[in-house]
Amino acid sequence: MNYYKVVIIGCGLSGATSARLLAEQGYKVLVIEQKKHISGQVYDYKNECGITLHQYGPHIFHTKLKHVWDFVNRFSEFSNFQHKVLSFVDGNFVPFPINRQTINQLFGENLTTKDVPVFLQKEVDKAQYNSSLVSFRDAVVSQVGERLYALFFEKYTEKQWNCNPDTLSSDLAGRIPVRDNNDCRYFSDKYQGIPVKGYTAMINKMLDHENIHLLLGCDYEHIKDQLSTQLLIYTGELDRFFDYKHGKLAYRSVKIEFRTYEQELFQLAPVVNYPNDYDYTRITEFKQMTGEKSEKTTVCYEYPSADGLPFYTVPNKENQHLREQYMQEVAQLEMTGKYLFIGRLAEYKYYNMDLAIDSAIKRVQQWINR
Ligand code: UDP
Repeated sequence: MNYYKVVIIGCGLSGATSARLLAEQGYKVLVIEQKKHISGQVYDYKNECGITLHQYGPHIFHTKLKHVWDFVNRFSEFSNFQHKVLSFVDGNFVPFPINRQTINQLFGENLTTKDVPVFLQKEVDKAQYNSSLVSFRDAVVSQVGERLYALFFEKYTEKQWNCNPDTLSSDLAGRIPVRDNNDCRYFSDKYQGIPVKGYTAMINKMLDHENIHLLLGCDYEHIKDQLSTQLLIYTGELDRFFDYKHGKLAYRSVKIEFRTYEQELFQLAPVVNYPNDYDYTRITEFKQMTGEKSEKTTVCYEYPSADGLPFYTVPNKENQHLREQYMQEVAQLEMTGKYLFIGRLAEYKYYNMDLAIDSAIKRVQQWINR
């Protein structure tokens, strides 16, 4: 074990990015992964129909950050896929996030781009909300009013998080734009796409370096007493690292159910959200994201769940408070120069893929320059 200068716990995007950057600086790196495969939650594979499936739910890469885009493009070619979502509301499939077309279609209006802010302002003027905008509900209602909130956000959010949206942080609302124009893309970021050969192939290439060794199917808890290294990078669950000493952080999971249909196409868009109907939140049709051809199609239904692998951190006050307690411990450990906590689970932050990579790039660079 002493051969390795760096041990990294977890082989998702954060772990693999960190491993690559350190390996390129000459550090011998051992990556330990509990799962039997690389790539963490962005793991994908081709099924028997030749369609690439994302085992842990749909992942679409998007970023404003050129250095992150340049980094991932070193390891994979990316398609130019621009993600689109429809929401099934009142019997209609309408563009989501809400834009001009959504409003015109749903309310039989004929608004121009200039009219949309006026329409929304009237909706907001009729609404009741707390102007401190601390909660998810208030943040959304302050932009679109109560009618659109009830149609698109309220029930989806209850399903997704199993709580009253009033208790969730307004930061969550920042993930979803509201548009005056007819831009039907889900993300507005300059750089968007999907790795042409998949995320697993991309991460495999990241790890393909003589200074990186990999141990799969190994729980760090079982070997942690044998580890003595210059640097330990932890990308697992924050509370687990500290044996839950301040209490358990909440995580939200999703049961992913794949279904293959004997038809070429299943739905009208790569993703259809179901805010008000059914127990699932959304259905993803993978071939619409990858452009793969098959006579059949495979889709996934997402059922949010309290049990299962941690997919999401839960953005509410209690968890924020608990996180701060753990982060004080993290700060002390990181001050020694022997530890880094990186990624969605270890920093307990609702990072998108690009921000997890950005965090790894920054933190590792700081450590190298220390
Ligand atoms: N959301 C919603 N209605 C939708 C889509 C999203 O109310 O049709 C809310 C919901 O609370 C969700 C949050 O917006 O958790 C963030 O959605 P996003 O699509 O960013 O979630 P992710 O892709 O990370 O699962």
